Amino acid sequence: MGTTDTGAIDPIEAIGNIAGKYNLWFHLDAAYGGFFMLCDEIKQRIKGMEKADSIVMDPHKGLFIPYGSGALIVRDKAHLAKSQYYTANYMQDAKASVDEISPAEVSPELTRHFSGMRLWMPLKLHGVKSFRAALTEKLLLARYFHDQISKIPGYEVLNYPELSVVAFRYIPKDMDTDSFNKKLVEEVQKDGRVFLSSTIVNDRFTIRLAVLSFRTHLETINLTLQILSEKISEVFKSIS
Ligand SMILES: *Cc1c(COP(=O)(O)O)cnc(C)c1O
Repeated sequence: MGTTDTGAIDPIEAIGNIAGKYNLWFHLDAAYGGFFMLCDEIKQRIKGMEKADSIVMDPHKGLFIPYGSGALIVRDKAHLAKSQYYTANYMQDAKASVDEISPAEVSPELTRHFSGMRLWMPLKLHGVKSFRAALTEKLLLARYFHDQISKIPGYEVLNYPELSVVAFRYIPKDMDTDSFNKKLVEEVQKDGRVFLSSTIVNDRFTIRLAVLSFRTHLETINLTLQILSEKISEVFKSIS
């Protein structure tokens, strides 16, 4: 549910139906895309999510909270207890209460920090409305970037953003496209004002804009477009 490379969403309902028919475990990787379900239009796109046996969602991505806050949601917690629970003589005083499950019994770590606090506190302080608004802004920013860059001659844009990722490359005339784009993304990263990453899609080197910081607003996207245009000229100059 939201690939890392391009933010593409698979047909979740159809896959869920097949998994159900053949009695297969249906896991949803929603690490990046999951929290966009707070936005109504994305909620429509991800029908079938409720069929999943397990889902990963990263609050440290879609809820902008500190790293180390990944979440796994499992329909039947007995599976987790079966695979993760262990005991030892020295743990006899830490016996679990019958009705409250301890995170230590359903996951690999025993002694652990209070990671739930990082998630609970911002939700309590800001309310879910703020997160919905911020995520909607990120969707709109990715679309805005897509629309702007599609209008500029020379760019090839791979996808209309389903979520907040746009993959694109610049096609220079009479030059190797992969090496040009490698150089281009390097120059943007060296500049340091914005960070763009890269990936390989269909064997081709591709630059990706991933909008998922609460600090990224319209100015940052406009600045990115400006930096790209500066760096394209510089790369051309350095080559000729
Ligand atoms: C980031 C990401 C992961 C890995 O999650 P971590 O929290 O970094 O371990 C897995 N799947 C997708 C789709 C991701 O975007």
